[in-house]
Amino acid sequence: MKKYQGKGVYGAIAIGNISLFQKPETTVKRVHIEETDSEKARFEQAKAASLTQLQEIYDKALKEVGEANAAIFEIHQMMLDDDDYIESIYSIIESQSVNAEYAVAVTADNFGEMFSAMEDAYMQARAADVRDISNRIINNLMGAVSTEADASEKAIICACDLAPSETISLDKDKVLAFVTAHGSSNSHTAILARNMNIPAVIGAGDDFLSDIHEGCKAIVDGFTGEIWVDPDEKTCEAYLEKRRADEEKKRLLQELKGKENITLDGRKINIFANIESVSDIEKVLANDAGGIGLFRSEFLYLENSDFPTEDQQFTAYKKVLESMAGKKVIIRTLDIGADKQCDYFNLKKEENPALGYRAIRICLTRPEIFKTQLRALYRASVYGSLGIMFPMITSVSEVEQILAICDTVKAELRAEGIEYSEKIELGIMIETPAAAVISDMLAPLVDFFSVGTNDLTQYTIACDRQNPDIEPFVNTHHEAVLRLIEISAKNAHQHGAWIGICGELGADIELTERFLRMGIDELSVSPSFVLKVRNTVRNLDLSQ
Ligand code: PEP
Ligand code: MG
Repeated sequence: MKKYQGKGVYGAIAIGNISLFQKPETTVKRVHIEETDSEKARFEQAKAASLTQLQEIYDKALKEVGEANAAIFEIHQMMLDDDDYIESIYSIIESQSVNAEYAVAVTADNFGEMFSAMEDAYMQARAADVRDISNRIINNLMGAVSTEADASEKAIICACDLAPSETISLDKDKVLAFVTAHGSSNSHTAILARNMNIPAVIGAGDDFLSDIHEGCKAIVDGFTGEIWVDPDEKTCEAYLEKRRADEEKKRLLQELKGKENITLDGRKINIFANIESVSDIEKVLANDAGGIGLFRSEFLYLENSDFPTEDQQFTAYKKVLESMAGKKVIIRTLDIGADKQCDYFNLKKEENPALGYRAIRICLTRPEIFKTQLRALYRASVYGSLGIMFPMITSVSEVEQILAICDTVKAELRAEGIEYSEKIELGIMIETPAAAVISDMLAPLVDFFSVGTNDLTQYTIACDRQNPDIEPFVNTHHEAVLRLIEISAKNAHQHGAWIGICGELGADIELTERFLRMGIDELSVSPSFVLKVRNTVRNLDLSQ
């Protein structure tokens, strides 16, 4: 039995077997080959295996996300059979007497560059597709373990680190817990683990990863960040008991369902939930959240291998609004960039991505993407109570530009005779110190503020939320952050706007009293934290 220490990011206990999350190895070497015919035969075999895998993925996607979303995997199959693509691979194998992996990699680069250079955004996005199918063939040629070959039983997923797109593509029903050797507690992977209600520990270290093996037994304590590998009988017993006690505590919280979020002295607030996908609504309803305070819509983009169309987005937003049956739903427009990378956006590699081309900056400079999303949102607005909010705001001029684009979208819909609601609330995220400092100038322009404490903290105390090495310097209760929230709350109310908190700090019950005293109107938290925060609110007395 061996113990490792990481940082717990979602408090719960998991006991089970480890499954190693393998990123496919795609470093391709150029190897001289005498027998080019057998190399071509190897390519044909790998291509056939890739076609079968893509058909399986298509069938799964068809069942889970519908025909429109599954269509891309049919396109991938067609691309694999494209004559020009195959001819290029054959010709490189023959003319240079090289291995198939190398020929596929060079072809992928050539075709990728050709697509990227095209004017048309749709054709540009094909660059990511050709790289994707080529990686699949290369993995099959190299016999690499595919990340889609999921374990048949629920397992503790262990990885060096997980990108948000990798986390979202895991089969949630097969995940008992997450453990990563690296990563930081405010990363989107940690947030996803919280929203998925699964025990998660990050930063377990490289030793942990090199010591474990596929299938070995482990205990993950998401409260303390401890991981026990090959635990003995006595430790298992103790943790089974701890898990029982935790489940009992969570069961007791269930009794708060249907009760108000009201302090002992009568102050009421809204407790809403944060979601990443339409399928999270189940958890929102099960935990009795009063609405959705943050729908991270960029996950619709991350789940797709191409820009989701207006209709695809409309269907998703309509479903969320209808499922919430008139309760408020705040959808944040696309927040791509930084750690949330989407190949088909073809974003350049940046020195400082958190300070770079992301979120509203992409939307304002690529208005066709922004307008498609806004049209889908406005069209869906008639199915419920919608709020739209915009991420990464730093200036008045950005908000003015956004409002002008919203007006254009509305005018276009009106001209086309398409209905939308006039009651949509428009808000902005306060997640840069600049926005908080000028919140008196921003508040008159909008209906609400929503404080993104994850980014507000990283920008205020200059600590990259993705960098695990600086975690010791991250004081999540830093007075500077709290004062910026206080300033924003005062300014919001002075101009008739309301203010919520949708960053992870909203669920920090050590701060609930301070937030309520500042006048925060809404806390939006992971669905599994709704009842815990309600319990805290109901035990507060703000009268003294
Ligand atoms: C935040 O920054 O606090 C926030 C809610 O947005 P995200 O975590 O998605 O960046
Ligand atoms: Mg943010």
